[in-house]
Amino acid sequence: MSHYLTTQFKGSARWICVLLLGILVFCGFSPALRAEIIGYVPPLPIVGDVAQPLVLDAEALTGTVEVTRRNRTYQALPLAELLQQAQPADERFTVLLEAADLASLVEGQRLEESYIAYSEEYGWEAVHLRHPASANIKRLQRLVVIAETDPYGFGIHTISQTANLGSTSPGALHKDGFVLQYQREGAASLRHDDVEYVSTVFTPQKVVPRGALLGDGQCSESENVLVMGTRGEVREAAGGYFTLAPAALEFRDERGQVQIQEVAGVVIEAPERRTTDAFHDALHLLKADQPVILVILDGLGYHQYVYAMEHGHAPFWASQARAERALTVYQPVTNAGVAAILTGKTPEYNGVYSRRQRLLEVPDIFNGADQLGKRSVYLAGDRQIVAASLEQRFHFDNTGSGSSDDDIVLTALEMIGDQEAPDLMVLHIKDIDRAGHNYGDLDPRTMAKIAEADEYLRQLQQAWSGWMIVTVDHGMHTTTDGGDHGILCFEDMFVPYWVMEGAVHNDVE
Ligand SMILES: [Zn+2]
Repeated sequence: MSHYLTTQFKGSARWICVLLLGILVFCGFSPALRAEIIGYVPPLPIVGDVAQPLVLDAEALTGTVEVTRRNRTYQALPLAELLQQAQPADERFTVLLEAADLASLVEGQRLEESYIAYSEEYGWEAVHLRHPASANIKRLQRLVVIAETDPYGFGIHTISQTANLGSTSPGALHKDGFVLQYQREGAASLRHDDVEYVSTVFTPQKVVPRGALLGDGQCSESENVLVMGTRGEVREAAGGYFTLAPAALEFRDERGQVQIQEVAGVVIEAPERRTTDAFHDALHLLKADQPVILVILDGLGYHQYVYAMEHGHAPFWASQARAERALTVYQPVTNAGVAAILTGKTPEYNGVYSRRQRLLEVPDIFNGADQLGKRSVYLAGDRQIVAASLEQRFHFDNTGSGSSDDDIVLTALEMIGDQEAPDLMVLHIKDIDRAGHNYGDLDPRTMAKIAEADEYLRQLQQAWSGWMIVTVDHGMHTTTDGGDHGILCFEDMFVPYWVMEGAVHNDVE
């Protein structure tokens, strides 16, 4: 029964189609002609410094408006709207309109009557009603958004231990920073009459030469070049290479495997010392039955440490062996910096790569101490930074000093004094960061907080008979209204690292 109905329906549907076709042919349309009009619409990618790279295709043409210029009518899409969909990384940007043999650059802020049109004759075409005619480029192949870079803002940055050497961006590299290379994917063959027909397949790769990132003279001479990713990846640059994705710079190993999907920047002449060493150094000492105080200072760049000593703000530090310069992790913010110190792992492995994560995906220093049969305490302020395996002991401003830092140090000193100090004490001292944000990295008011931290460390060292490891989650750089951190600049990425011996020598053995 149902079979009969279906056949019936199919039969009548076929007749309806034939009838419609007849009407269309009568009116001057035919299915063949319609296919010609739509045909193959070449894709038009929007790439570069955007959060959401796009590809315009036939589907995009459903939203066109009619635009007339010099007696020609176009089916066009407003360019400013298209770019907003792609989400430019910065509001200050230019757009490169690129055809095979011609390109023009226009300002992103001046696109009030600018359109992208499509016609069979000219393909994708830029139609600007206000710009000079030279901006109206036919047969477009790509639109590249190029944002303004800034050493303390948007961009892919190259730094050394003491300088910010330069910035570029995916957009700038898409403009003129790559060479097209073909990667062999494989070959296939077919035999016909004892003759072999071979076809080899390649995929194009936009390879970014190292010179585009490191500056021409520097790339060959630089040693210990590290590539850092936005998810906290760290790779040695030696042996690998850079390729360009639609909206990111990638780093690949020698076999072509993507190691870093979004490069944040490059560190040349990177020091051996890392903040993650604190985890390993502390556990190493605990294993040898040496008690440890691990102090995490918040927001103290190596340059601030040096400046403070040179200007008399840190007499205790000046009296000690010089701190090593350690590389912290990207993103240089408190969550990621503290998580790296507490786990000994970079954000790629511990899961905390920005201010948004707080759960540790690997064991932390407290798990490690516990396994060695050691007791630990975690003394910190009134807010949880990361969810450590040991509940932090919260501290509030009970002394009325305007900060909980002195309260934390008091607790530690009391524990030491009462002979009840655990084997591992982790302290998180916050005020240098707070002052750095408010006043700037080298401001006298920030230096006053550095002087307080210097004094806290002196008091702890004077009272302690074990070891002290002191390091920092991230640095601080100057901004127009104080200071900030979170960028791949040398001020944020390099911090001091000390291993000090306590001053008290008890001759127990
Ligand atoms: Zn901060």
